Amino acid sequence: RTVPGELKWAASPSEGGWEEVSIMDEKNIPIRTYQVCNVLEPNQNNWLRTDWIPRSGAQRVYVEVKFTLRDCNSLPGVTGTCKETFNLYYHESNEDRESYIKENSFIKVDTVAADESFTQVDVGDRIMKLNTEVRDVKVTTRKGFYLAFQDVGACIALVSVRVFYKTCPLTVRNLATFPDTITGADTSSLVEVRGSCVNQSEEREEPKMYCGADGEWLVPIGGCLCNPGYEEKGGACKACSAGFYKAKSTDPGCAKCPPHSHSLRDGATVCDCHSGFFRADSDPPSMACTQPPSAPQQLISVVNETSVVLEWAPPHRLGGRSDTSYSLDTMGWECNVLFSPGQAGLKTTRVVVSELRAHTHYTFIVHARNGVSQASGAGAAQSVSVSVTTNQATPSPVSFIQATDVTRHSLSLSWQQPDRPNGVILEYEVKFYEKDQRERSYRIMRTFSRSVDVTGLNPLTVYVFHVRARTAAGYGEFSTPFEFSTNSGIHTAMFTVFIISRSYTTISHPPLHPSFSSLVSSPALASPTVAGVKIYVDPFTYEDPDQAIHEFAKEIDVSCIHIEKVIGMGEFGEVCSGRLRAQGKREIYVAIKSLKAGYSDKQRRDFLSEASIMGQFDHPNIIRLEGVVTRCKPLMIITEYMENGSLDAFLRKHDGQFTVIQLVGMLRGIASGMKYLSDMNYVHRDLAARNILVNSNLVCKVSDFGLSRVLEDDPEAAYTTRVRHIPIRWTAPEAIAYRKFTTASDVWSYGIVMWEVVSYGERPYWDMNNQDVIKAIEEGYRLPAPMDCPVVLHQLMLDCWERDRAERPTFSQILNMLDKLIRNPGTLRRTGGERYLKYIPTGTMLESGVGSEVCVSVIPEMCVPEWSLCEWLQSIGLERYRDTLAAAGYTSLDSLLALTHQ
Ligand code: AMP
Repeated sequence: RTVPGELKWAASPSEGGWEEVSIMDEKNIPIRTYQVCNVLEPNQNNWLRTDWIPRSGAQRVYVEVKFTLRDCNSLPGVTGTCKETFNLYYHESNEDRESYIKENSFIKVDTVAADESFTQVDVGDRIMKLNTEVRDVKVTTRKGFYLAFQDVGACIALVSVRVFYKTCPLTVRNLATFPDTITGADTSSLVEVRGSCVNQSEEREEPKMYCGADGEWLVPIGGCLCNPGYEEKGGACKACSAGFYKAKSTDPGCAKCPPHSHSLRDGATVCDCHSGFFRADSDPPSMACTQPPSAPQQLISVVNETSVVLEWAPPHRLGGRSDTSYSLDTMGWECNVLFSPGQAGLKTTRVVVSELRAHTHYTFIVHARNGVSQASGAGAAQSVSVSVTTNQATPSPVSFIQATDVTRHSLSLSWQQPDRPNGVILEYEVKFYEKDQRERSYRIMRTFSRSVDVTGLNPLTVYVFHVRARTAAGYGEFSTPFEFSTNSGIHTAMFTVFIISRSYTTISHPPLHPSFSSLVSSPALASPTVAGVKIYVDPFTYEDPDQAIHEFAKEIDVSCIHIEKVIGMGEFGEVCSGRLRAQGKREIYVAIKSLKAGYSDKQRRDFLSEASIMGQFDHPNIIRLEGVVTRCKPLMIITEYMENGSLDAFLRKHDGQFTVIQLVGMLRGIASGMKYLSDMNYVHRDLAARNILVNSNLVCKVSDFGLSRVLEDDPEAAYTTRVRHIPIRWTAPEAIAYRKFTTASDVWSYGIVMWEVVSYGERPYWDMNNQDVIKAIEEGYRLPAPMDCPVVLHQLMLDCWERDRAERPTFSQILNMLDKLIRNPGTLRRTGGERYLKYIPTGTMLESGVGSEVCVSVIPEMCVPEWSLCEWLQSIGLERYRDTLAAAGYTSLDSLLALTHQ
């Protein structure tokens, strides 16, 4: 219709079929038509073909045909040859100049008939009815196509042929632009299209839509968000105007600047604070800008001897914040001053400062701060100060007393000055009495120096000493009691130290060193387990923890237990001492651990697991479980009582007071206990002096079977927070690095315990931090020999600290080595500066059912008073001297006690 001039479409036959005819349309404009009207002749087959039509990326094209068609009935004299339809064909081709119509290469689209919706067209003097028909066809194989109209005997005029395809038009949805998109080839096809974010926006979720066959966009997914500083307006992102801001793309839109802030330019992501106002790093942009507080107010002080109570009111201005905190400074720094509840970061407005020096002038400064004090720069902490003078105060108690030069009737006492003398010490007062006498009668001595010789004492008697200091302010409090015993007077060359085995009848010893009655040890007795027979069972393998506990521990009736006093604090609650009188048995002293109220299931299980582990062991150097109380609350674990508590504290308390042989005796006991555990296949994981308990006879026993559970067999554990539980200083490097806990890692820990023992409870690696310890060990550093440490012992420690765990000795080898040292004490004496016995702790012997209980004492009858001389000699392997002693008139232990140096 719109083509001016001739179309010159191909027609077949070229004459007598379709003809190109010019007519006037309804507006009297000349248009081209193709007409055919051979209604009176039979067998018509007239083809008309369009020019080549480029496809231009389309996959489905639409053909709209407008035509007029004469009703056969309206034609006078026509017969059955008249038709009222024509056929529409297409043919895909890359060739744009096919010269003739190849009929059989065309594919039929449809037979087209005139429909009801005629439009009246005035053609010349006739009124014609114009039909409009649309057909669609898939064209996907060639660059273009031809259309053809086949007439089979109708009277038609083609007025217009319009060919088109459909697109989904360019659109913006959820701030993503989707381009103009050609629809798919099939009527049901959906074309997936990815959108791109509009300017100043970022993807929230990949924007996608589908272009339907009708040119409709369907199913929008995802979309974009306007960047910070921009908000959505009409499908685009527009900058926030001055005075507004948007901090995050997810914020709904631009918001007005919060109080005390402004934005001067468009597109602000945050508003700047007005001058004099600030924002802390942790403040959100939506929060108002704030100010540091003003100074605290009304600071008052109340002096109480050497303490000061400081109280103040909150600042007048809090700066618009609620995080005001206070800190205190003292002018003229005092390092030991105590601040309660603290010195900095205080939320309260009251502090007690104590342990100040007496009669001293102090100035205290109280600062107020809040979250913007730092941001607001120097001088931001507002402060107020007060000056006070402390009162006079008496000296603090003397904390440590030592006894030297102990004889039968005298000893020398010395002590350290109190931590806080609070003035010039004018005098010390020593109060002492026989322990058995309690304080019924006591003696007092006064001295200007920090030592005194105490004479006129009874031999073999335990005395209790207290010391206090006096200044102009008066007497301070007495020290805690310190107990020392006078000597028996026996020369110690022969009996300095020995260990007596009570099961003397079963001992058979190799010959002892003739000049030294050494520790008699019995490896056979120390290891009651036949190796390989009994193996430790992890109680956590039991589904029901109560089943494990009842398998390994005896239930004790709580009425048999008498708790006496609190002696320590364990992980789960208090540890008390007391007595246990089981039915038909002698009363014994016990330690009682209880599980504090309000425990969880896990805590109950962990608490009882220690008893389930301990209950499987039976060895003189392993803490013995007497039983448990699980049927009533609180739950209790009852163990044998160890009078001297944990080894580390015990050694610190008696620094330098044991002979090397005594120390080795302790180490031997620990090694023996560890050998037993390793024979049982039990890995301790937390062997340290603090986990060794000492009884009144200096017998050391391994305890604390808790840590093995903390480090569950979770391969990740070493890299997680659990690593915090590993006692780094005591733990072998492979156990720290990859949780390889084995008996060989226990041997490493044992080496550390050796070092702790020989250094009298010094902290391994002193004040180095854990990281530095790990690094130092990695670089080959090892703890040096403690003071006076025999070289052989340090060499044994170094062997335990071999990097390659296979190179470390076994507990069995360690035990043999220590036994050898004990039998040849010369090895120890030759190589190191031995510390000589200064003080021998004595104590009441408690009944013990263990066969190889050992006793360290210079006083034989302290161990087993009822023994005969013969039994005692036998027990220490010196029975061959019996006859010699008897010949000289020594037939009883009593007579032996009278033996002098000469
Ligand atoms: P634990 O949590 O088991 O290490 O116990 C805490 C503290 O209680 C220890 O450091 C010891 O001072 C004390 N203690 C524990 N068991 C005993 C015991 N059997 N005899 C004496 N004191 C003990």
